[in-house]
Amino acid sequence: MTAVATPIDPDRCPLCGGPNGCAMQAERVTGQPQPPCWCTRVTFSDALLARVPEAARRKACICAACAAAASAAP
Ligand SMILES: [Zn+2]
Repeated sequence: MTAVATPIDPDRCPLCGGPNGCAMQAERVTGQPQPPCWCTRVTFSDALLARVPEAARRKACICAACAAAASAAP
């Protein structure tokens, strides 16, 4: 088992690899209270969540761009 495991970066979107801008993660990193995260106001569809790799689920947030793209799609 020498497969390279992709480390899960909680700051990065597991779908596009970009910064996810999660306020809850920022609060954890900085120790400063943050305003409620944008992700509390959007709905993540089951189809979108299904695209997140198993290892990243509940660890890395999907970014706003991917969430918007998914909700805009029919
Ligand atoms: Zn993304």
